[in-house]
Amino acid sequence: MAWEIDREKCLRCGACVSVCPELALNLKEEGVLHDADRCTSCGICGRVCPVRSITVVK
Ligand code: SF4
Ligand code: SF4
Repeated sequence: MAWEIDREKCLRCGACVSVCPELALNLKEEGVLHDADRCTSCGICGRVCPVRSITVVK
């Protein structure tokens, strides 16, 4: 299981953070932070990202 973000593409809009059902994402000054211990690889964050900067592989 893997969660990856392309930080060059990310707009820091926060959409992924607000939809994560596990509260595994946080938007900080340095960008989106991912908590692998909480993440279930559901893929919702990747689907809402307007610039497709998140890739989730089960
Ligand atoms: S894959 Fe699902 S659980 Fe993991 S960060 Fe994205 S929305 Fe949250
Ligand atoms: S939804 Fe996409 S562009 Fe917006 S903060 Fe998340 S990763 Fe970045």
